[in-house]
Amino acid sequence: MEKAIKSKFESVFMSEPLILIAPGRINLIGEHTDYNEGFVLPASIDKHIVFAVAKNNESLLRFVSNDLNDEIELPVDKIEPVEKHWANYLLGVIAQIKKMGKSIAGVDCVFGGNIPLGAGLSSSAALETGFAYALNELFQLGLTKLEIVQLSQKAEHEYAGVKCGIMDQFTSVFGQKDKVIRLDCRSLEYELFPLKLDEFKIILCDTHVKHTLASSEYNTRRHECEEGISILKKHYPSIHSLRDVTLEMLEKHKTEFNPVVFKRCKFVVEENKRLLDACEALARNELNVFGKLMYQTHDGLKNDYEVSCKELDILVDIAKESGIVLGSRMMGGGFGGCTINIVEKDKALAFIEKATKEYKAITGIDMPVYQVSIEQGTNILKI
Ligand code: ADP
Ligand code: MG
Repeated sequence: MEKAIKSKFESVFMSEPLILIAPGRINLIGEHTDYNEGFVLPASIDKHIVFAVAKNNESLLRFVSNDLNDEIELPVDKIEPVEKHWANYLLGVIAQIKKMGKSIAGVDCVFGGNIPLGAGLSSSAALETGFAYALNELFQLGLTKLEIVQLSQKAEHEYAGVKCGIMDQFTSVFGQKDKVIRLDCRSLEYELFPLKLDEFKIILCDTHVKHTLASSEYNTRRHECEEGISILKKHYPSIHSLRDVTLEMLEKHKTEFNPVVFKRCKFVVEENKRLLDACEALARNELNVFGKLMYQTHDGLKNDYEVSCKELDILVDIAKESGIVLGSRMMGGGFGGCTINIVEKDKALAFIEKATKEYKAITGIDMPVYQVSIEQGTNILKI
């Protein structure tokens, strides 16, 4: 794929490009904790976008999307959102860099990859971080990795209109091979933990549904968490988010809560705790404990946070009943997307066959499956 993108660039632009790759990501555990200033546990994967980029002397931005077979050309001094959705991720990055007072001249770019689009593996973040990383290199902008992450997140907010947290961009840049990142979404401090899979594999089962509820319910959940905080703040003025709350504090004031808000807050507090326990399990190399915590996360997301859906639950049930899946849960915001499964390596194919067949029989949907391994974050290739 790297070679194909490089030769496409050479044939279109007749110059020698810089080549780099930016990966998608998974999140092992820690869902809906990011906007509550809690922890997440993502990792960068072996699905990525390849970029071929070079300066041009024509003050033009010329981008070619290899996968969508589309292209765009515009003057570098006239950056604004455009109709072509994919181009906005790249333009958004340039707009942010300019906002930082840095100057960008003409750039040619060909890109393409194998992260499934819109499946929850963060192809959009890879697009932003990869391009930002490339521009930093080409124009010697002197941006730190964290600045690349933060400007990419802002690009997504402002040019794609998605108010995402920082996990996706952070992971795409900071990911390391065979490591998960325990990221503190409050301080942005992080710690790497080894995920020694040995005789297991990570398999993502894609429900192939995206229920329209996702964005309205997301906003509702954020408000519910804020409501919980405002109740507890009366008793504990120093708390700032659910990150600062314990189960004891919640239980003590249960009667002041609307029962739905209580459930939501309980989930977030438990999820942060589960994530910390999960990291301890990894440090002890107890993958079975880790897997159990993943199943518990799914139960919480389904019953207390109520962001799962029939299709996700079907897949987790299939995994649980199979007896060969250590852990399984919905991954991402909910109401569709993938489940993440830790499956015995030598039974992985049998699991995929069984899950695909049973899912199709119940839902009528052909299920895409992705086997992923944990690979290094955004990096420059010498090819
Ligand atoms: P996710 O980030 O979960 O994959 P998003 O909806 O946030 O889903 O981002 C998907 C969008 O990102 C696509 O609709 C497209 O505009 C852009 N995109 C991602 N990868 C590519 C690619 N390889 N080629 C062109 N556009 C891409
Ligand atoms: Mg995205």
